[in-house]
Amino acid sequence: MILLDGKLVSEDLKKSIADQAAIFLKENERKPHLAAILVGNDGGSETYVASKVKNCEKVGFESTLIRFDTSVSEIELLNEIRIINERTDIDGLIVQLPLPAHINPDLVTETIDYRKDVDGFHPVNLGRMQRNLPCFLPATPFGILLMLEYYKINTSGMNCVVIGRSNIVGSPISILMARNANPGNCTVTLAHSKTKNIKELTLNADIIIAAIGKKNFLSADMVKNGSIIIDVGINREESSESRSGYKLFGDVDFEQVSKKAAFITPVPGGVGLMTIVGLLKNTLSAARKEIYS
Ligand code: NAP
Repeated sequence: MILLDGKLVSEDLKKSIADQAAIFLKENERKPHLAAILVGNDGGSETYVASKVKNCEKVGFESTLIRFDTSVSEIELLNEIRIINERTDIDGLIVQLPLPAHINPDLVTETIDYRKDVDGFHPVNLGRMQRNLPCFLPATPFGILLMLEYYKINTSGMNCVVIGRSNIVGSPISILMARNANPGNCTVTLAHSKTKNIKELTLNADIIIAAIGKKNFLSADMVKNGSIIIDVGINREESSESRSGYKLFGDVDFEQVSKKAAFITPVPGGVGLMTIVGLLKNTLSAARKEIYS
């Protein structure tokens, strides 16, 4: 079994991003700049945003964190997004999800200028992705592709089962794995909560991408020997054993499945770290105006 090591890969790719950020600074007399909006103080969201800001600093980007109380109105939030859309010194904008129930996340996503949509959630970017045109890829699927590329895994002709059909992970990665590219060229099955007999599908899969949000969902009896396992799940459980007060688990029973897999990502230390790399790469592309002028 080969561990698809998100720590190793992300550190390596971030070095190259930092080199490119230094060149950008020299040529433009400013750093690539990411703005992040955080509404409320959900523990998970705080951790993700803090990590994004820290990683921006690490690679030589500027970052701006804009915080709102949970009581912020939809109009106020949309106005802030419109202000950032107009700012020429900000290259990328993300709004951390989930948002409070009174705010429509689709409206928020569609209000972000697609040229600054470095999370890759805007319909323009998703539509261009589907047509295999240059775009900002959604950060987590992008991170998965970068991981497969780094380990030179040729996925052509493989049966790929994606479990979970969210707009941010499952659905886009299923499109990307099916497109005529490498990584890609897979025969993809997209499974979800209404899928009958998932085990029958996963037992026939060469590559399984689990994005469900259920600890240890994928068990060893569901995978064939020599398969490639990508675990996107991040499930938090309170734990007195760790300093942070919680422990993270994936959607895959790592201990047992790793005995059968050819390649597998751990949680933590896998896809989560690659998501940040996807975001940083998109931000650099936005600053350089590589996709949209
Ligand atoms: P989500 O919006 O919560 O959707 C979960 C998906 O799983 C849905 O499509 C659902 O099916 C499906 N599902 C639920 N129970 C199932 C079952 N028993 N059998 C088959 N499918 C089932 O998902 P998400 O936002 O993509 O998040 C998934 C996980 O990935 C979460 O743990 C999240 O924290 C994690 N995540 C990690 C990263 C990272 O960077 N590593 C990034 C994003 C998310 P239906 O559509 O039928 O309801």
